[in-house]
Amino acid sequence: MQIIKHSSLITRNISDKLTLVPTMGALHDGHLSLINLAKQYSNKIIVSIFVNPTQFGENEDFETYPRNIESDLNKLKNIGIDYVYLPLVNEIYPDGIKIQQYKTGEIGEILEGKTRPHFFDGVAQVVKRFFELLKPDIAIFGEKDFQQLTIIKKMVNDFKLDIKIIGAPIIREKDGLAMSSRNIYLNKQQRLIASELYKTLNWIKKQIKNTHQIDVSLLNAKKILLESGFNKVDYFKLCDSSTLQEINNYQTSDNSRLFCAAYLGNTRLIDNVVI
Ligand code: AMP
Repeated sequence: MQIIKHSSLITRNISDKLTLVPTMGALHDGHLSLINLAKQYSNKIIVSIFVNPTQFGENEDFETYPRNIESDLNKLKNIGIDYVYLPLVNEIYPDGIKIQQYKTGEIGEILEGKTRPHFFDGVAQVVKRFFELLKPDIAIFGEKDFQQLTIIKKMVNDFKLDIKIIGAPIIREKDGLAMSSRNIYLNKQQRLIASELYKTLNWIKKQIKNTHQIDVSLLNAKKILLESGFNKVDYFKLCDSSTLQEINNYQTSDNSRLFCAAYLGNTRLIDNVVI
C-alpha cells in the first residue's frame, strides 16, 4: 500500500481498472465494506481521506471532525488496497478554498440541503476534483448518504463523465444504528436512544405499507422519535429513490425510500430505508 499526497504519484497500466473510494477518514466497517465491494470490480483501489472544508457550514464540526490517521492506515493496510490518497489542500483547491465548480440545484437543496445549504455543492466540487485528478474507472459511495450518491450520479451524467458510480448498502451496528464516524460523539444514553432511528424507520415503513396513509405515518414517526429522546427531527420523509421528490400518494410510492435526520444533543444522525 502506497501513501500518496499528490495524484501524479499514481502509476497504472492501460489494462488496470481503478476504483476510488472517497472518505473523510475515521474509518469503520461501513467504509471497509465499500473497499470490499471495490475488490469485486477492479484490480486497483485508491481510498482518499480528506476532510473537505467546503462541505462544512460555519457552525459545523470541521475543526473537531474525528481524525484517526494512524488507525485508518492500519485498517487500510490490513484490508489491502493499492493507494491511500491524503491530498494536500492546494492540489484540491489550487485557487483557494471556495465553492466554485458545480451547483447541484434543487436536488441539493432538499432533505439534507435544507439544513446544510452549501453541503452538496461542496461535496460535488471535491468529488469532481478527485475524478479529474485520479481518473478512476469506478467510484463507490454508500447508500448511508443516499442523497449524496444520487447527486454524484447526476453530476456524472450532467458532465458526461466516463465513470461508473456504484452504491453500497448501509452497514449497521448490531442494534441497527447505521455506522458513522460521528457516532463517537454520542454519550452512553444517547447511543442507546440512537438505535430507535432505524427501528422507527422500519415501523413506519410497515405502517405506510399497511395503511397507505403517508402523512399520518410520517407525523407519527416524528412523535415516536421525540418521545424516544431525540431532541429535534429535521425531516422524516418518503421520497422517490431517483428524483428524491416527496411522495404523498401511496399509489406512486414504488421505488421509494424513507429518509430521516434527527438530533441527539448536538449530534445529527441520518438514515434511510427502502420501501
Ligand atoms: P464519510 O467518510 O462519512 O464521508 O463516508 C465515506 C463513504 O462511506 C461515503 O460514500 C459514505 O456514504 C460511506 N459510508 C459511511 N457510513 C457508511 C455505512 N454505515 N454503510 C455504508 N457506507 C457508509
